[in-house]
Amino acid sequence: MTDEIQAGVTRSTLEPQALRRFAYACPSIEIQGANAGPRLCIMAGVHINEASSIVAAMQLPDLIDPQRLRGRVSIIPAVSTHHLYTKAMVTPPSSGVDLHWSYPGAPDGEFNDALAHWLVSDWAQDAEVFLDLHGGDLDERMARYVVTQRTGDEAFDTSVSHLAGCFETDLNVALAPPESWSAGRICTALARNRRHGIVVEAGDHGHLDPDSVDWITNGVLKVLRHLDMLPGDVDPRTDQTILGRYEWVVAPVAGVVRLAVAPAERVTQGDRIGIMTDLFGRPVADVRAAASGHIMMLKTPLFAQAGEWIGAIASEV
Ligand SMILES: [Zn+2]
Repeated sequence: MTDEIQAGVTRSTLEPQALRRFAYACPSIEIQGANAGPRLCIMAGVHINEASSIVAAMQLPDLIDPQRLRGRVSIIPAVSTHHLYTKAMVTPPSSGVDLHWSYPGAPDGEFNDALAHWLVSDWAQDAEVFLDLHGGDLDERMARYVVTQRTGDEAFDTSVSHLAGCFETDLNVALAPPESWSAGRICTALARNRRHGIVVEAGDHGHLDPDSVDWITNGVLKVLRHLDMLPGDVDPRTDQTILGRYEWVVAPVAGVVRLAVAPAERVTQGDRIGIMTDLFGRPVADVRAAASGHIMMLKTPLFAQAGEWIGAIASEV
């Protein structure tokens, strides 16, 4: 006698025991397929203003028929519920306050570390693949791209690149194998243990953009077909540009930022990609590309202090 699988969609609020001391709770959507199979975990809203990725996660249950699904899709559409109404924005990794750079975390750590640990090692413990959906904080314009972590283990790295190829973009930031593993993005923490993870980026400045929503959900559906969790052929792209290094563009002086490049644009090291002006609009410094590669992100605020992030470039391997 075999257990009958009850296919369907369940929505609930998770209150993890491990995060009780922080009174943390988050929304959970479980799509249980009619047949046994792997589990895909998807989260969005680590950065709470990244509207297109959050709405994409919320729309997935409308696009996945449990009767045709093999396995289970688990979704947390808004992870950072503690920031729902704070408008908290992305901060640099060095700030130490942003969940996005906190993985794999630690069970006994402060809030971000404990939440990171729960996501990777508890909630998604048995996930075949983990997708972390992002894109376009209130002050950002983004190229559409994916971030993965290479390990040097060719078979593993190739299987991750096939997953990345399910997303319709030329740009795959496949981070170079680290010399030593330290806290970072979720794809890095997962790859360290040969687990498959992808950070997906699409959207602009907190705006809900239907094209970005479709781009994300189409990629997720392709991942499901690639994992044979949904029927249908998929031919992952194998022609993505592999970008191994991510460099921040910083303001050379304090003042007004006037960038003259667009997301996804190719630049060469030393190119003038914009200028800084004083408060009268007079040019005071050039902004030069610190590396050759593609513009992945541009910050939108007009004013920046010297040394502040105003964009990011990812370089070819
Ligand atoms: Zn983000």
